[in-house]
Amino acid sequence: MHCTRKHDYNDAMLNNEATKTTPFEIKVIYSKRKTIELRFLDADLLQIKAPNRTSKQKLADVLLQKADWIAKTRRTLAERWQTPQMKQGEQILLLGSWHSLKILSTPNAKPQISETGVITIGKSLAEAGASALVPLYRQLTRQWTEHYAQLYAQRWQLAHQGIRITSASTRWGSCGPKNTLNFSWRLAMAPLISIEYLVVHELAHIKHRDHSKAFWQFLKQMMPDFEEGQSWLKQNGNKLPKIKP
Ligand SMILES: [Zn+2]
Repeated sequence: MHCTRKHDYNDAMLNNEATKTTPFEIKVIYSKRKTIELRFLDADLLQIKAPNRTSKQKLADVLLQKADWIAKTRRTLAERWQTPQMKQGEQILLLGSWHSLKILSTPNAKPQISETGVITIGKSLAEAGASALVPLYRQLTRQWTEHYAQLYAQRWQLAHQGIRITSASTRWGSCGPKNTLNFSWRLAMAPLISIEYLVVHELAHIKHRDHSKAFWQFLKQMMPDFEEGQSWLKQNGNKLPKIKP
């Protein structure tokens, strides 16, 4: 049996450090399970899966125990960049900077970036939501990863077996066992130096399969300023807007 109940956050978290943040909604789903699981669906909505007949007091205790995790998770989620609403003039992240979105009256005009840095897209496509931008992200990821792969593969005599663009949301890229390089189209949101770093990172795996000291030394040899590209990915990776492939 499923039933949901809403609690006010303050109900459970009274006198706790974390209550100084804004209240959030709690949705409890009771079922035949054995353990309690907490998951934020977004910064203001916590879903709790609990065994049937778990008492309100028990839930409150769990929330208290998890106060630090709750505060930290909410902070991370609140920092996430908004999923594009596909509105006229909206700012869209591309290659590390924000670009204005221009909706064209041509219904099915594919997403493009103009010479002036404006992203244009047809009206009907825009109405389909942020996913309509994926072809543009894919195209840019392919273009720039191929560019850097060619440059570095030649210079360092590293033979890769082609590039594949994926929809991965938890990793930027990988190097397959047969030296195929995989990159997520989400990489097109990152600055060029980060795309360059990631290509060099995956290419370096052709020589060193692990993240050993030798790997990092080789990478630094290939791209002495790699840390600059790496830091953007580290700092912003979990802020990327949710866009479905
Ligand atoms: Zn790696």
